[in-house]
Formats: sequence, structure tokens, C-alpha cells
Amino acid sequence: MKVILVSRFGGPEVLELKETPLPQLRPASVLIAVKAAGVNPVDTYLRAGSFGYQPNLPFIPGIDGAGVIEEVGEGVSKFHKGQAVFFQGVLGSYAQYIVCPEDRVFELPQGFSFSQGAAIGSPYATAYHALFQCAGAEAGQTVLVHGASGGVGIAAVQWAKSRGLRVLATAGTAKGKELVLDVGAEMVFNHGEEGYVNKILEYTQNQGIDIILEMLANKNLENDFSLLANYGKILVIGNRGKIEIDPRNILRKEISVIGVNLFLASSSQRKAIFAAIEAGLKNKSLWPIIRAEIPLEQAALAHKMIMEGGATGKIVLII
Ligand code: NAP
Repeated sequence: MKVILVSRFGGPEVLELKETPLPQLRPASVLIAVKAAGVNPVDTYLRAGSFGYQPNLPFIPGIDGAGVIEEVGEGVSKFHKGQAVFFQGVLGSYAQYIVCPEDRVFELPQGFSFSQGAAIGSPYATAYHALFQCAGAEAGQTVLVHGASGGVGIAAVQWAKSRGLRVLATAGTAKGKELVLDVGAEMVFNHGEEGYVNKILEYTQNQGIDIILEMLANKNLENDFSLLANYGKILVIGNRGKIEIDPRNILRKEISVIGVNLFLASSSQRKAIFAAIEAGLKNKSLWPIIRAEIPLEQAALAHKMIMEGGATGKIVLII
């Protein structure tokens, strides 16, 4: 089968198109013919060897995807050959076929493309985990999705809106801002613009924000303290470096800074996440937005694009 293989850690150029044997089906697993693979920032960290966990070389990157069930393993009754599905959190989605444990596979409802299916897994699960399981968000609260134009951000806007929160957001381009409003934010600000923090505060009439979902903590954490209301929470989802903070700003408002790590979601939390996703897809309150469909062969281009910013939804590889 055709795959993208990483044989050494490095830049996008280490993503090479290769032929490998089909993976072997195991009990309680399914073999999926992958039609689209989601490109997540973590794929680039794993490729570069800069993530805390490093897969053994060589490996096939990608942890999200969608496709069609090709074969079911012993003991699997939930799925059948020919069924459209998406999967989350299984390394090796940049490939024509993948074997996934059945509890990582979910039905792709009618009306959703394979590209949309590939855009669901990690982004929607992370946004749900952050908002409802880590922050305990409730209807009526104000959330700032700080970095709302990408995969996790768009998912977060849709989740929050569907659960009755007031949603403010940021994006870095005019196109990104427009998209974020389209998917349901009440107001959007440009996180690249001088003075945008004050604009957000003014917009809340200096009441502040209850929950910030932070996609770039190393840049924004100190400013986030000034944006929050008393007892506000910052959910650190994305971070790419270090930042100096004044802890006095945390104690002044009894702020909580909470780390989010989808890999640490418990199995009962995962059950709740994917039950909520199933319901949200069925009632169409969740609707993945695709920025670009790129052929598998050009995985390196997809990795460059995702790190360049200017997000307007999800980048997927077409297989
Ligand atoms: P993505 O699709 O590449 O989107 C990145 C987002 O970050 C875009 O909305 C981008 O906005 C925004 N951004 C850029 N500069 C920013 C700034 N100065 N302030 C605030 N936001 C800024 O990536 P993603 O899939 O949404 O993931 C977002 C982050 O979460 C990544 O760092 C990823 O590694 C992390 N993540 C963490 C977990 C976890 O379990 N903790 C799970 C999934 C993802 P513009 O492009 O419009 O500037």
C-alpha cells in the first residue's frame, strides 16, 4: 500500500512516499481503507522529533482519518464492511490502509464527506475535553476562543455556541475572522493587531472573560490574566515556547491555569466526548470546515502550510 513514511526526524522533507505491506488485522480491530487523513500540528512535532513522546522509526504519521471499513477483526460486531467511519488517535493515518482498535472508530453520518470525517477526531475531542471536562463550562458563561480559525478553534466555537455560551474569538487574518463569525462567534478580534486585548476588554464592558481557550500560551498567557473576570480559567491547549509571567496576576483574581492534554482523557471521558460528537454531528451543530484538500504525495506541503498560520479550517490529505 501507498504510505507516507518518516525514517528520520527532521523537516517536512523527511515525509517520503513509500510502498509498505498491508497492516495485519487483529481481534477487536478493524481494517479501514483510508480516504482522507487529518493534518494536526502534533503530526509536525512527531515528525520533527520534538514532542515529549517519540515513535520508533520508521513510522507512518497522522492520528486522525476517515474512510471505509474493509474488514472486521474477531469479536467486532459494531461495524461492517463498506461502512463509512472516522477514527481518532491511531498513529498511521497517512496511508491507504490502517488497522484501528474498534473503540477508536466511529460511524461517519450521512451528509459528511471523508475530508470532514478526517477533520473531526482530535480537534473536536480536544475542544470538548477542554471546555466541558477541564473547564466545566456552563451555559451563560463567556468564553474567548483565542485562536479560533484552526481545527480546534472552530470546533470550540461550535461546541460553545451549541451549549449556550457567549462566544468571543480571535483569528490572525481577515478570512479567518470572517470564517469564525460564520461558524457562530458573536465577535472576533485579530490576535496580530496592536491593542486587540484592550478591544476585547472594552467589548465585555470591562466585565472580562470567564474561560479562555488558549492556542498559543507562550505568546498570550500574561495578557490573558488581564482579560479574565474574577475566578476566570485559562485552558492551555497550545504552546510553542516559554513566557515570563507575573504570578501576582493569578492570585489577584483567583485565576486557574489548567493544562489540557487529550492523550490523558480517561476512557469514561472519551466515551462522553464521542457520544457528544455523535449527537452534535447528527443535529448538525458540529460541522467541520475544510481549508485545503492535499494529495497524500504532497504531505510535506501540508506540514509547511499548517505551521505558517493564516488558518481557515482544517487541512486534510486525500488518499
Ligand atoms: P491549527 O489548525 O494550525 O490552528 C492554529 C490556531 O492558532 C489558528 O487559529 C491560529 O490563528 C492560532 N494562532 C496563531 N497565532 C496566534 C496567537 N498569537 N494567539 C492566538 N492564537 C493564534 O491548529 P489546531 O489543530 O487548531 O491546534 C491548535 C493548537 O492546539 C496547536 O498548538 C496544537 O498543537 C494544540 N493542540 C493541543 C491538544 C492538546 O491535547 N493539548 C490537542 C490538539 C491540538 P491564525 O492562523 O488565524 O493566526
